[in-house]
Amino acid sequence: MDRKRVVVIGAGPGGYVAAARAARLGAAVTLIEKKAIGGTCLNVGCIPTKVLLHSAELLNSLKSDAKRIGVLVDNPRLDWTALMKRKAMTVSRLAAGTLELVKSNGVEYVEGMAVITGKDTTRRVFTVAVGERTFEADALIIATGSEPDVPDTPGFDLGGVITSDEALSLDAPPPSMLISGGGVIGMEFAAAFASFGTKVTVVVTSPEILRSMDPESAVILRKALEKKGVTFHRGYSVKSVASGKEGLGKEGLEIIIESAADPKDEKKIEAEKLLVAKGRRPYTEGLGLDALGVKTERGRVVTDAHMETNVPGVYAIGDCVNSYMLAHVASKEGEVAAENILGGQTTMDYATTPGCVYTSPELASVGMTEREAEKKGHKIRVGRFALATNGKSMITGDNSGMMKVIADEDTKKILGVHMAGGPATEMISEAALALHFGGTPEDLVNTIHAHPTVYESLAEAASNVFAERG
Ligand SMILES: Cc1cc2nc3c(=O)[nH]c(=O)nc-3n(C[C@H](O)[C@H](O)[C@H](O)COP(=O)(O)OP(=O)(O)OC[C@H]3O[C@@H](n4cnc5c(N)ncnc54)[C@H](O)[C@@H]3O)c2cc1C
Repeated sequence: MDRKRVVVIGAGPGGYVAAARAARLGAAVTLIEKKAIGGTCLNVGCIPTKVLLHSAELLNSLKSDAKRIGVLVDNPRLDWTALMKRKAMTVSRLAAGTLELVKSNGVEYVEGMAVITGKDTTRRVFTVAVGERTFEADALIIATGSEPDVPDTPGFDLGGVITSDEALSLDAPPPSMLISGGGVIGMEFAAAFASFGTKVTVVVTSPEILRSMDPESAVILRKALEKKGVTFHRGYSVKSVASGKEGLGKEGLEIIIESAADPKDEKKIEAEKLLVAKGRRPYTEGLGLDALGVKTERGRVVTDAHMETNVPGVYAIGDCVNSYMLAHVASKEGEVAAENILGGQTTMDYATTPGCVYTSPELASVGMTEREAEKKGHKIRVGRFALATNGKSMITGDNSGMMKVIADEDTKKILGVHMAGGPATEMISEAALALHFGGTPEDLVNTIHAHPTVYESLAEAASNVFAERG
């Protein structure tokens, strides 16, 4: 029998994982990318931001903690050029590794803009054009990702107004930056630039930052950022931007913000840069989805749990579909799509999706928040543990956070775990595994955790779930 031909459009963490998986399962796979292998995640997302945050965190510790812990370092300071070089080197090494991964699996990698041209109904193949070349496929995987969502606010077209893409490649950290948006991306940039010496102001429409995360963790992070000098205007949004007066630098901006509660309550803030971090929107521009009649809703491609669209044989994954905009979700969806194309019956399960914020303290969560669990009708019990009394946290000085385990009072099963502090972004995988196996707080308690580690505090929080009320 002929090998199934699969064309994957977009080589981000969704597309390249899907391509490699489909090839390993025996398909003849073509992966098409118009910009750079690795997509948003590798080039202007997960990886470069974490390179910046790693340097920011180290600089911060050297400046504020080194002396206290008995380490003397003379005049620690930022070398922006070296940091930018390291960022570029990390990205290019990982890009080379990713290309090697797809090629070693036998995937054909094609550079160029893919346009779906239709379906040959007699031969039952999809056709995709890349410049002059045409590719035929028995199945398509759309993995075209997303782009920054820049609202139509007056002045957002001015030079000093940037998105996360540009914020990663500035000539130098600006003296001042206003960040519009209190989500994960906004908070990570706030943490990094505040550590680099930029005067950071955050304007967030909601009453608190990180609206979708555990509210207690959000407050812990906001307070830590305030300590670093970040100013927050909560319940405000940017109304307009104008070029600033002389003396603010060539791109100085005058930004008017207004209160959500009372539009007459306006404030003027001056900043050299305005970073728009108001979320991202799915990207399917010029792709030709109409040629096949693929259904979209508010720009997002609609799929079922098998990641298949309304057009049989056409699958979609990652940021361009209606799920979490996270790299690990895109990759998992890619695997699911590839397996189903090759005869499997796999469905996506989002229940164990970890969400992480790589700031200091780190935040991480998996499963439901208290509010979500109660909304779904669960009678909940919550166990907390403050890192202030965890040995390892005291040693590292990262001890202002907490661990929280939420469980169902009747079934005793864990519903959600939320962490602020310690290596939360690593530790969350233990909680995700517990959730995956339908674990209880007791399971976490009965797992022996090494001492001294921050992991012990997860078991402590779990032990408090059913102990709190005796
Ligand atoms: C600043 C920032 C930080 C982030 N940090 C994290 C993090 O720490 N952890 C995390 O999980 N997620 C993070 N994300 C989100 C993560 O980057 C995305 O969820 C992930 O990249 C989505 O993967 P994807 O494969 O769906 O799309 P993308 O990575 O966007 O890749 C899509 C690719 O498709 C290509 N493409 C589009 N149209 C066509 C076409 N017609 N023809 C050919 N190619 C095409 C694009 O050029 C692009 O390379 C971050 C995002 C940003 C912006």
